Amino acid sequence: MRTLNSINQNVEDAYVKREALLKMPILVLPEQKLANQYVGYFERTGESKSLFEKAKRYFPDGIQHHNTYVSPYPIFIKGGCVSKVFDVEGNTYLDFTMGAGAQLFGYASEHYEQVWQTLATDRFSLFHHPEELELAEKVNAFMPLVESIKFFQSGTEAVKAAIRLARAYQKRDLVVKISGSYHGWMSPTIRDIRQPGVGDLYMSGVPKAEANLCLTVPANDLSALQKTIRKRSRKIAAVIVELPGPESGRIPIYPDFVHEIQRLCRKHKILFILDEVVTGFRLAKGGAQAVYDLQPDLTILGKVLGGGTSLSAVGGPRDFIQYFSRNVTQTIRGRAVFVGGTMAANRVSTMMGLATLQAIEENDPYNTLDQKAQKMVDRLNSLFDSAGFPFFAYHFGSIVQIELVAWPSKFSWSRIFDFQKRLSSVHQYQLFLQSQGILSLSGTRFFLSTAHTDEDLNHLINAYRKLLELIPTK
Ligand code: PMP
Repeated sequence: MRTLNSINQNVEDAYVKREALLKMPILVLPEQKLANQYVGYFERTGESKSLFEKAKRYFPDGIQHHNTYVSPYPIFIKGGCVSKVFDVEGNTYLDFTMGAGAQLFGYASEHYEQVWQTLATDRFSLFHHPEELELAEKVNAFMPLVESIKFFQSGTEAVKAAIRLARAYQKRDLVVKISGSYHGWMSPTIRDIRQPGVGDLYMSGVPKAEANLCLTVPANDLSALQKTIRKRSRKIAAVIVELPGPESGRIPIYPDFVHEIQRLCRKHKILFILDEVVTGFRLAKGGAQAVYDLQPDLTILGKVLGGGTSLSAVGGPRDFIQYFSRNVTQTIRGRAVFVGGTMAANRVSTMMGLATLQAIEENDPYNTLDQKAQKMVDRLNSLFDSAGFPFFAYHFGSIVQIELVAWPSKFSWSRIFDFQKRLSSVHQYQLFLQSQGILSLSGTRFFLSTAHTDEDLNHLINAYRKLLELIPTK
């Protein structure tokens, strides 16, 4: 497991390199050269294009998931095996989206064989099955602070439930988050997502009074954090944080900063919620809280928890989680929080989650994942250096960030054209990689699984080498 010093260094390096990249003009790939590159790609993926045209009739923008869309059309995927996915025409792609981080063992992993077999003969039962209990026991064994657990289906839903619990318990309404962080689409944490400074851009449909219940603090800004907490300490129910920083570490935060958040929370009797939707069972068996040595009051889990199926959870000390209770006395005291769901702890997802955690226990994949990510980052950085570009890659465990276009620390409307240019460059790079058979999340985020091989890494490096050759140097 990484030490806090090495994480600190990692964060420091990322910010230094980002500053250097920001000083460079945004590099746009020449359309003419690209057009030649894309001829074969567009020919091979015609079926996806037709499906996308049809999808536009049924889905807004023709898509169901924002982050995986690649212009001019997304690839329609039919299946996956190990580190690869196959589109409807049988083309193979090396996949680094890994279900937005949910697949720790790649696709069609042998670890799930037993689950498929059981489901084929045993069909589904929905309520009160042993697997939900076994999964809770396993989570507790991995994360001792998760003594008690309430299952949900999506990360969004679990965040919403945790915040409601914090508010009910605290009898306070305000929530603090780090600018730019995404904790799901439900209010109030939808404020200031993705790019710090966008404020209420994505808050249509959220009443102003509700929007104002979310306070934001810039990443690593200790004085803003102290000021915000001191000023309203008696009204703040909870602070919610994602490690290694907003957007899976695209905006990295220093370990000291998150420890200061925890310290201030304790001091002012504010609940400290750790959003481990991405990091839970991905960064380490014990999640980011084990790596960073934190003791959150509430932990939010998702993604890997369900082995790539829809499962999420809020966990914590029994004393807190018990307030998700149907107990009438508690309800009358105004503390019990009503949550539930037909599909919560559904058997398919809990079986998948259990198989995932068992595979983690048997294989302890984290050192290997960390080494793979380090190798990927080292090879990419030496490629960028030798080609003379200030691009850079860095990683936190199996989460790799590759930056060819840096983002200013704060969005502003006066620099909207600069932002748009950066965004279209990211899209250009993402499409180029896709044409080379590589899928990433938003063009910058790469999730590794135990299924990724050295050969896959060579494929990635070659694709970036070709990309660099296309970039005009003057
Ligand atoms: N929290 C974090 C840190 C996330 O990255 C996400 C989604 N990627 C969520 C919450 C929301 O999870 P879901 O998409 O399952 O609703």
